[in-house]
This record gives sequence, structure tokens and C-alpha cells, in this order.
Amino acid sequence: MNEFALIERFFQRSTHDSAVRIGIGDDAAVVAPAPGCELAISVDMLVEGRHFLPDVDPESLGHKTLAVNLSDLAAMGAKPRWALLGGALPDADERWLAAFTRGLFALADRFDVALIGGDTTRGPRNLCVTIIGELPAGCAITRAGARPGDDVYVSGTLGDAMLVLAALQGRTVLDEATLAALRARLERPEPRVALGQRLRGVATAALDVSDGLVGDLGHILERSRVGAQIDVASIPRVPALDERLGGRERELALSCLLAGGDDYELCFAAAAAARDALRAIARDTGVPLTRIGTITAQTGLRVVDENGNAMAAVPGAFDHFRQ
Ligand SMILES: [Mg+2]
Repeated sequence: MNEFALIERFFQRSTHDSAVRIGIGDDAAVVAPAPGCELAISVDMLVEGRHFLPDVDPESLGHKTLAVNLSDLAAMGAKPRWALLGGALPDADERWLAAFTRGLFALADRFDVALIGGDTTRGPRNLCVTIIGELPAGCAITRAGARPGDDVYVSGTLGDAMLVLAALQGRTVLDEATLAALRARLERPEPRVALGQRLRGVATAALDVSDGLVGDLGHILERSRVGAQIDVASIPRVPALDERLGGRERELALSCLLAGGDDYELCFAAAAAARDALRAIARDTGVPLTRIGTITAQTGLRVVDENGNAMAAVPGAFDHFRQ
């Protein structure tokens, strides 16, 4: 199968999105943003051996390839609209492509995202999505707006993906049901798209937790020129992590909660006056929101353990370039 046949068969679909004036098949796509809207644009690359294993289920990979990009738009408060996919593939494995695109388009359809272009080439497997979303002009949530006295929140639970990875690598043991549930969190993360849009005008700063709470919250603190104090006891977690926090695997649990990446939850700051509004947002979206600390005028991140003591050594963030 040549490149054009492959694109036509697996990636070209009709769209009911009238804002897509010209889709796949021309030299460039043409879209018409809604009047009064700005575009939010982000790109994310997944590399075999680095972000996923060669034997990963291709349908899950299709989901995750798009999910990580949707998560970035959610963090900005944007509504996702269009995506472009660049991919290097070692071969035109039709079964693999069928499963990959099934996972990708199932998620795209749920959020009304149209694939409007892309590029494929032969090479080591590498997938790169560019996502484009819309925002009312001037309403993007950035990392720079957190103010002293703001509450710090996270959505969902943290550490799930790192805990299941530890189990898959034989570093801990999970019962079968927990393993299956957490594996879904790792392989098919749920981007907090509706939550992100509801946080516009409520959150003062936000981002998605892709590299671990400490490192990612650190980006907000740096850009906002503030500090924070967070409490380990209040970080929302699954029972399997809760048990470990008080037991022999405490170090692992702390790493999962503070430095575990890949959960794709949102971390954000909001004024104390927004607490009622946030309770309503959690109720409406069905996404639990947990207050884990406070923004401080004093810079730096203070992590307080369950006994109220500041932790001296805090597990850090995952960094691709740290060896
Ligand atoms: Mg991000």
C-alpha cells in the first residue's frame, strides 16, 4: 500500500464540521474559527521505546496519542476542534493501523474533533499530533496567574499511572482488579476537556499533570512568581496508594503521588472565593476536585507530610533529559 492509499483508507473521513472548509487531500487544510474566538495550538510527540513499548495495544495507543493533546488544550480552557497527525511507521501493517485509528477516532468523535491533515513516512514508530482548539478571545488560562492566598487543586486522583507501571515492572504487586483499573488509567487517560472549559474565569492558573505534581506545579509557581505549600495527606489517591503510604512501600507511594507522570489530571489555582463555584463544577462535570494546598508569596514549594512536617527530600519531576 502506498502512502496515499494508506491515508485514504485509514485517515480520510467525511466530517460534518462546517468550519472545516478544506480537509485532508489538499496541500493544506482550511478552517474557519468561530467569530470572537482565538486559537489554542499545541503539539505532542510519542516515541516508541520512550513513551510506549513496541508491543502496546495499538487501539490504546491511538487513544493516548490524541488524549495527551486534548489534555493540553483542557489545561488552557480551550475547546478542541481540529487535529493533524504526523507519523513515522516501520511498515504499513494494516491490522495495526486499523486498531490505532479505531482508538484515535473513537476519542476524536467523543469530543467532536476533526482530523484535518497530517503526514506519514517510513521510520521508527513515532506519532505526533498537533491539536487546535478555540477560546473566547482573551480567556485562555495560563500558568502565570496564580496569586498568594489562592487554593491549589487537582482533579481526579494522582499517581495511578506510575503505580501500575511499577507493578508491570515487578516493583510492586497489585491485585487483579486494581491492576486492570489502573492499567486503563495509564493506557487510556481521560482528558479533562469539559472541566478545563468550566475553569475559564475561575482558575487563576492551570496545567495538566503529565510529568508529576511537584515538577508541574513548579511550572505554575515559576511563571506566576509565587510559592506554594501542599499537604501530602490531602493529595487524592486510590486505595492501593493510600495503603502503601502508611506501610513498607511508603517511598514508592510518595514518588507516585508527588512525581508520578502520565495521569493527565489538571492542577490549578483559584481564589478562596471560588470554592462554591468549584464545588458546582465538580458536581456538573463528575470530576472530583481536591484542594491540596495554598499559593504563598514566599517562592519555592513546601511539601508537608501527614504529621505536619516539611519534607526535606521531595521526589522530583520526571525530566526526559535528566539521566
Ligand atoms: Mg501540558
